Amino acid sequence: RQMPDSEHGYLFFAADMNQRARERHHLEEDLREALHRGELLLYFQPQFELASGKMQAAEVLLRWQHHEHGMVSPAKFIPVAEETGLIHEIGDWVLETACATLHAWLERGIPPLRLAVNLSARQLRPKLISRVLELVGQYQLPVHLLELEITESVLIQDDAKALALLESLRAAGFAIALDDFGTGYSALSYLRRLPIDTLKIDRSFVADLPGCEQEAAMVLSILRLAQTHGLSVVAEGVETQAQLDFLRQHGCPAVQGFFLARPMPLQDLEELLLR
Ligand code: C2E
Ligand code: MG
Ligand code: MG
Ligand code: MG
Repeated sequence: RQMPDSEHGYLFFAADMNQRARERHHLEEDLREALHRGELLLYFQPQFELASGKMQAAEVLLRWQHHEHGMVSPAKFIPVAEETGLIHEIGDWVLETACATLHAWLERGIPPLRLAVNLSARQLRPKLISRVLELVGQYQLPVHLLELEITESVLIQDDAKALALLESLRAAGFAIALDDFGTGYSALSYLRRLPIDTLKIDRSFVADLPGCEQEAAMVLSILRLAQTHGLSVVAEGVETQAQLDFLRQHGCPAVQGFFLARPMPLQDLEELLLR
């Protein structure tokens, strides 16, 4: 169930520049085909409310099951999709598949779980709003079942258009989460003006808890900040009991990480939902 590391598949670190360019070219070509070959699929990683232990949502994580190379990490192919513009088609597939999944749950009487979909900065354009509204209409979904995750990079340029777009999405009822929080450049003072609901504490801060004073202080200040601004928090990358205990002790509302549940195929998530 775990994804193989970069030993497999595309070796971007090939010493030879030509070799590297060729591999990159192949990756691009293959990615173009991936959608049509049906090689893309979604995995789901549950998020848990800390106080109750209840599953509160699942993050939708894209996977590429390559016909020769096996699983290719999104960390490798999403950047290529962004650079080539393929992210629009791929991102739309992710959104629609997530919506179709929610629809199927409602139809089958499976208690639905909010799904958090990752969006690339490039997807944040006016078309996105009409498209997500079209999708929730088509699949007859209550909007609160969809959450959209964006990263700080979207907001770095203080892009008024991106902000307005987020405002509209929120006004339409979609929850917005700020992913990988703490890794970007965004001054914390920014937060006041951001149309968001949730901060996701980047896993690099969680990794060294509870021992590392610097990381612990960072996490505590994020938790305080969130409280001040009425934002929810999800700590990402929880891998140990000690990390979980620290987060609980300091009132972190929700957690996500391998210690609780790894990203899993749809069928496994449905088993959890039906349990
Ligand atoms: P992300 O949105 O921050 O997603 C969380 C990543 O952390 C996932 O990696 C997940 O498998 C991993 N993770 C979760 N818990 C743990 C843990 O306890 N320990 C460790 N070490 N890792 C953990 P994944 O699935 O490889 O995705 C990597 C990134 O690719 C995502 O980071 C997101 O930025 C991007 N991505 C994934 N799916 C999509 C998508 O559909 N659209 C876009 N635009 N980006 C996506
Ligand atoms: Mg995410
Ligand atoms: Mg993240
Ligand atoms: Mg990320």
